[in-house]
Amino acid sequence: VLLSLSTWPEVEAYLRNCDAIVVPIGSTEQHGPNGLIGTDAICAEHVACGVGGRTGVLVAPTISVGMAAHHMAFPGSMSHTPTVLISIVREQVMALAAHGFRNFFFVNGHGGNIATINSAFAEIHALRWQAGLPAIRCQLANWWDPAGVAELSQEYYGDVEGSHATASEIAITRHLFPDHAKNVVLDPAVAPTGEFHDAADFRQRFPDGRIGSNPGLSEAKHGERILQSAIAGLVEMLRVFIAMKGA
Ligand SMILES: [Zn+2]
Repeated sequence: VLLSLSTWPEVEAYLRNCDAIVVPIGSTEQHGPNGLIGTDAICAEHVACGVGGRTGVLVAPTISVGMAAHHMAFPGSMSHTPTVLISIVREQVMALAAHGFRNFFFVNGHGGNIATINSAFAEIHALRWQAGLPAIRCQLANWWDPAGVAELSQEYYGDVEGSHATASEIAITRHLFPDHAKNVVLDPAVAPTGEFHDAADFRQRFPDGRIGSNPGLSEAKHGERILQSAIAGLVEMLRVFIAMKGA
């Protein structure tokens, strides 16, 4: 159930029984020549909606722009600075906490967000303690964390899953948006791997935007199974998170 498709009396009634909410957070950034710019937000949103659908836990609006400074040398990429993203996460959590939400389960779609989300959680805990507010619990779950997701990506793509514009995430978007699948030849088929320092350096080392991946292998039917595996894994993580409440 989406918060955006609920009414305030419905949310009021929901809060009498449940104080948990799922928050999808992604990124809007280049994903190589055949990957959609919205890939990370799309994946986080659809995994979160699946988790909400299976558990009955409300799903907040997707935070679609993340911390993607290192992708800014590619057109269409958007990024917040870490401090602004911390503020966005903090203010959205505090707004929901004002109504009685206490347990926030973040479904993340972008590795570059992890440090900033954890900093936001630290700030939320510090501020609520200073203000003497009731406890707020936050958990971060990346959609690719479940063991079942790693097994499928290994089965389909092995070593060329890669670390950016991964074969798995592009398969998920091909499943969800078949009309927007981009059939372009990737050259080289497998992107280079390595470290980078900033956006310009990223583009120089990884000219088409991918790192280590071959999303030419990505198929919609893979994406469907990967998405379902991610949802199933995160449903279990959410159930553990809620069961631990007050422990
Ligand atoms: Zn991504």
